[in-house]
Amino acid sequence: MLLLCNYYLTYRCNADCEFCHFGYSTELNKTGFAIESEVNNNLSQLRELGVEIIDITGG
Ligand code: SF4
Repeated sequence: MLLLCNYYLTYRCNADCEFCHFGYSTELNKTGFAIESEVNNNLSQLRELGVEIIDITGG
């Protein structure tokens, strides 16, 4: 059973928290942003898979 999906809208972040690698990673900060049509498609697929909780995060 699939319960949880951590869905990242982007890997970019302009903060610099000590415990996290997202903020200072120049490679991650070059990545793009989620595209609305793809997000909608992904969310539909997650629903079909039976995912009950979606944690939308990133940025
Ligand atoms: S992703 Fe969250 S925890 Fe990581 S650097 Fe950014 S604000 Fe801090």
